[in-house]
Amino acid sequence: MPSNEGLAALSRQFRVLVAGGSYGGLSAALTLLDLCGGRLARFNFTPDAKPPQNQIPIHITVVDERDGFYHLIGSPKALACDQYASKTWIRFQDIPALKTPNLKFVRGSVSSVDCQSKTAQILDLESKETTSEKYDFLIAGTGLRRVFPTVPQSLQRDEFLKEAWNHKEDIEKARDGVVIIGGGAVGVEMAAELKVLDPQRKITLVHSRDRLLSAEPLPDDFKERVYSVLKETGVEVILGQRVIDTTAVNTDAEHRAWDLTLANGTKLRAGHVMSAISKCEPTSSYLPQDALNQEGFVKIRSTLQFPSNVTNAESHFAIGDIAQWTGIKRCGAAMHMGHYAATNIHQLILAEAGLKPEFLELQEYPAVMGIALGHSAVSYSPADGTQDGEHLLKSMFGQDMGYSICWNYMRLSEPCQA
Ligand SMILES: Cc1cc2nc3c(=O)[nH]c(=O)nc-3n(C[C@H](O)[C@H](O)[C@H](O)COP(=O)(O)OP(=O)(O)OC[C@H]3O[C@@H](n4cnc5c(N)ncnc54)[C@H](O)[C@@H]3O)c2cc1C
Repeated sequence: MPSNEGLAALSRQFRVLVAGGSYGGLSAALTLLDLCGGRLARFNFTPDAKPPQNQIPIHITVVDERDGFYHLIGSPKALACDQYASKTWIRFQDIPALKTPNLKFVRGSVSSVDCQSKTAQILDLESKETTSEKYDFLIAGTGLRRVFPTVPQSLQRDEFLKEAWNHKEDIEKARDGVVIIGGGAVGVEMAAELKVLDPQRKITLVHSRDRLLSAEPLPDDFKERVYSVLKETGVEVILGQRVIDTTAVNTDAEHRAWDLTLANGTKLRAGHVMSAISKCEPTSSYLPQDALNQEGFVKIRSTLQFPSNVTNAESHFAIGDIAQWTGIKRCGAAMHMGHYAATNIHQLILAEAGLKPEFLELQEYPAVMGIALGHSAVSYSPADGTQDGEHLLKSMFGQDMGYSICWNYMRLSEPCQA
C-alpha cells in the first residue's frame, strides 16, 4: 500500500502514447484502462489474482493510420468476399470498450520519437498537420508494412470496402481462373479461401521451392500436410517452379487474361494473377536506430522495454510484430505482449509511489502455426506435433477466420467502465 506522499505522486495524470491500434496496441490500451481503473487486467487469468488497490488518472493516446481496428488475419477472405470484409473493419469510434474520455484516437502516422524529451511527432492524416505529443510512456505496436493483396492498403473503412469489392470483382471475372504466386502462409490461405468461395473456379498456386511454407522454421511433415489438405480442397499446386514471365493477352475489362511462363517452359493462362511473395518490412523508421536490429525490429528486453543503451529505455516499450522475439509472428503473441507491456507500465507508475515494481517477463515462444485451409485447418506445435481437421478450424478460427475469437478475447463489445 503506498504512503500518503506516494498516493500524492499517483494523483498526477500519466500520459501513455500507443503507436498502432491493432491486436497489440489495443490490448495494451485496454489493459491500462483496466489496471488504472482499479480492475484486474482482462487478460489476467491467474487464479487468485487481486485487482490494484488504487485508481490512477491516465490518458492514453492511440495513433493509427487506419480509422479502425482491422482483423488482419481475415485478409485472405476479406479481399475476396465483400460481405465478410464489412465485418472485419470496425471504426475505433464504434467500439464500445474504447469509448472513454481517458482514451483518444488520432488517425495519423507517428513520424518520429525523441526518447530524451519523450515527445513524438505525429502527422495527423485528417488535418495533414504535424503535431507534438508529450508522453510519460510510449508503446510501439505498429507492426510490419505489407503490400496488396497480402493486406488491403486502404486507411479508412469506406475505402477498404471499395477495395475489397473491386478485388472480388476481379476474381469473379477471371474466367480463366486465378493464379497465386507464392506458397507461404498467406498464399496457401488465399488459394484455399478462393476455392471455398467458388469451388468451380480454377485456382493454381505456384511456389518456387519444393515444399510449401519453405521459409518457415517448421517441420517438413507440417508443410507436407498443408500441401495434401490444400490439394484436397481442389487447388492445383505447382512446386519448384518460378514464374519468369507474365504477359497480358486480353485487356478487355470483362475478360482479362494473362499468360504466365514458368522456368521449365510451362505456360499457364490466368484471368487474374495474385502475388503473395511480398517481403514485409518493420514500420520502425520513427524510432531511434540504437533501439533496432539490422532488419529494423526493436531489440526488446523480456520486459518489452527498449534495450538499455537507448535514452529513457525504461519508459519505452515495443510489442507485437515490430519487436524482435522468438517464434513466428502471431496475433496471439501481439495481444500477450500488449498485456505485459501495459502491466509493466502500471508497475512503473506504482513505483513513483514508492512501491517496488514487479515486472512480467516474456518467455521464449516456440515456432507454432495454424493455417486455415477452407473447411479445414492444419496446425503445428512442439507439444502436439502436426494435426489437421475441421475441428481445428473451429477451435482456432471459429466460423469467421478468428474474427470473433480476437474480438471477444479483447472484450471489445463490453462498454468501458469508468
Ligand atoms: C494475411 C495474414 C494472415 C495472418 N494469419 C494469422 C493467423 O492465422 N494467426 C496468427 O496468429 N497470426 C496471423 N497473422 C499475423 C498477425 O496478423 C500479426 O502477427 C498481427 O497482426 C500483429 O499485430 P500487431 O498489433 O503487432 O501489428 P499489426 O496488426 O500489423 O498492426 C499495426 C498497426 O499499426 C498501424 N501503423 C503502422 N505504422 C504506423 C505509424 N507509423 N503510425 C501509426 N500507426 C501505424 C497500422 O495501421 C496497423 O493498424 C497473419 C498475417 C497476415 C498478413
